[in-house]
Amino acid sequence: MSVLIYWFRNDLRLKDNPAFAQACVNADYVLPVYIHDLKEQETVYGFERQGPHRKTFLRASLDDLRAQLGVQGSDLLEFSGKSVDVLLGLLKDTAAKAIYCEQIEAPEEMGRVRTLREQGADIQEFWQSSMLDPQELPFDLEKIPDVFTAFRREIERVRLKFAKPVDAPRDIPPLPAVLPQGAIEQMPAGLSLAHPYLLGGASRAQAHLKQYLERHLPDNYKETRNQLIGMDYSSKFSGWLALGCISARDIALQLSDYEDRYGANDGTYWLWFELLWRDYFRFIHFKYGRKLYQASGLTGALVRPSHAPSFERWRSGNTGVDLVDAGMRDLQQSGYLSNRMRQIVASYWIYDLKGDWREGAAWFESRLIDYDVYSNQGNWLYIAGRGTDPRGGRPFNVAKQSQDHDPKEIYRKLWLSPE
Ligand SMILES: Cc1cc2nc3c(=O)[nH]c(=O)nc-3n(C[C@H](O)[C@H](O)[C@H](O)COP(=O)(O)OP(=O)(O)OC[C@H]3O[C@@H](n4cnc5c(N)ncnc54)[C@H](O)[C@@H]3O)c2cc1C
Repeated sequence: MSVLIYWFRNDLRLKDNPAFAQACVNADYVLPVYIHDLKEQETVYGFERQGPHRKTFLRASLDDLRAQLGVQGSDLLEFSGKSVDVLLGLLKDTAAKAIYCEQIEAPEEMGRVRTLREQGADIQEFWQSSMLDPQELPFDLEKIPDVFTAFRREIERVRLKFAKPVDAPRDIPPLPAVLPQGAIEQMPAGLSLAHPYLLGGASRAQAHLKQYLERHLPDNYKETRNQLIGMDYSSKFSGWLALGCISARDIALQLSDYEDRYGANDGTYWLWFELLWRDYFRFIHFKYGRKLYQASGLTGALVRPSHAPSFERWRSGNTGVDLVDAGMRDLQQSGYLSNRMRQIVASYWIYDLKGDWREGAAWFESRLIDYDVYSNQGNWLYIAGRGTDPRGGRPFNVAKQSQDHDPKEIYRKLWLSPE
């Protein structure tokens, strides 16, 4: 009678989760686990890695996953500790033959898998977080074009749109008879701060996508996407995508069905185009790996030391520059920031305050509900001109951005007015 451990990482869903589906086929018993990794708790800069908004979003996502597993007679066991230690303990306690999980191509996450293998664990990883299947790309991943536009043209030339999602498993094998010790009932959610509309979980992700399409919001996406206030100017898929409550392939398929029904337009194309950016930042990790995490990125340029006092002012929204301060307070209070504001505050940190882009990226990691290692690293590197941007960096002129995107100061007043 074979036992498999399924290690949920950033794939908190049953629908379109090929790794989990495979585990369900390959074992008599499956133990679904999630680990709150202690290593996750602090950045090298001394603040928490996972702020209250993401904790709350994660909590809701895990509860939803547990409920979905429960419907099929299974469960989700949560543990707290170092992932490697917890998993090695579980292998021993359950006599499981292997661990199955999604593949995450980022240095820390890869390091954990490597250590598990070094300790003798059989661990099977499945790549499943992109919209396109890497196997179908018209080039080897190691040879992905550096420049996004060249990458996109190649994808469009061979008419790749998305890989087909797989169904949720029909039967989930039962839990092993003897359950391991040490599972925790529930992790505290931290402060129960959540974005008023962004609540975690696969069920909410599907409901959100459904209403987004039913209200025909993709049609205006291209015109509205640079706005700063509200739910509808952009899709808000990012939080659910980051934790894997929904897959990019599932979104792309539903968007394509929408196009079949109502016709494709600039808005539907542009949404797909943005999901392609998300893939691009993933795939570029296969080519450059660890280099993307060095201060100099891909350039070998000199590294500027970080300037702590200005960091305090920047992160707390007290630089004295209204638009930047409004953005940083928005981020702090809502756990979300529009793409435009992310670009503006990141540029201000790098080019005006002469900060280390990695410290800025770490702050985003701490605050964002939708923190995604590939997209965060990729975008910060891009703006800093240390990545693959052919223009060599993106400094934004704050006065011009204020005029273009907040001419009536509505956004600034919203976040800067005393309560
Ligand atoms: C400095 C900086 C840091 C960022 N950090 C993150 C991050 O940690 N996590 C994250 O998901 N996005 C990040 N982004 C990208 C982008 O800002 C967000 O994905 C987007 O604002 C999320 O809102 P939305 O879902 O409404 O996006 P929409 O505009 O509706 O786009 C649809 C989807 O396309 C993808 N997408 C859109 N723009 C980008 C982009 N520039 N790069 C990669 N994917 C994109 C996202 O998955 C998004 O959900 C960052 C951008 C910048 C400039």
